[in-house]
Amino acid sequence: MSDPREAVADVLRGLAETLRHHRDLGVSEIALTHDPFPDPADALRAQEQALQGCPRCKLSRSRSTVVFGSGNPRARLMVNGEGPGEEEDKQGKPFVGRAGQLLTRMLASVGFDRERDCYIANVVKCRPERNRNPEPDEVAACNPFLMAQIDTIQPPVILALGNFAVQTLLGTKEGISKLRGRTYMYRTGVLVPTFHPAFLLRNPGQEFKRMAWDDLKLARREYERLTSTTTPHPDPLP
Ligand code: URA
Repeated sequence: MSDPREAVADVLRGLAETLRHHRDLGVSEIALTHDPFPDPADALRAQEQALQGCPRCKLSRSRSTVVFGSGNPRARLMVNGEGPGEEEDKQGKPFVGRAGQLLTRMLASVGFDRERDCYIANVVKCRPERNRNPEPDEVAACNPFLMAQIDTIQPPVILALGNFAVQTLLGTKEGISKLRGRTYMYRTGVLVPTFHPAFLLRNPGQEFKRMAWDDLKLARREYERLTSTTTPHPDPLP
């Protein structure tokens, strides 16, 4: 198409068609403004709201609570686990059981305050019965919500805990022992894999502890490197 007027006419015809379609669907208003920096806290609240009473997969039949995520919506470190356990299902918050207490100490050991510096979420938001691994259809049903959380927070660093979270996020079947010890480019930043704190509780040997400590130090270094050059979400106007 060589005539630019034809190109503009084409775009306008497409727009007119879309507007007619909206009118036929009963849409009576269209927003003509777009906030380029929506407050991440508002965005996360809306996503959490959209998940209340979620029936999208079979985990909805046995869960008590949807465990959306918790922490600072402006955090520059996001921590991703597998799925809620029994205590999380009761309280509606991620990592509040024994593994959660260890996670809090692991983060603190490299200077991260869990509430102030981190946002914590899981791959699936509802507890799999008897803490079995989430199944592929369950992960697929929850995936858009995890991606929305990640894209809202835009963390420079993601700490991914354990085989399941790391394999899901990186789309690989490789085990955590092979994957850990280095970083991976992931969406807006880097992903640092490490052992799940529940695994460390089951395997209290020094060897795994030392490797997890190395991973945490790596996450801290990446955090320092990437947060000194990236602009955090701007604060909302007073
Ligand atoms: N294990 C997880 O992977 N997530 C939690 O929230 C708790 C335990």
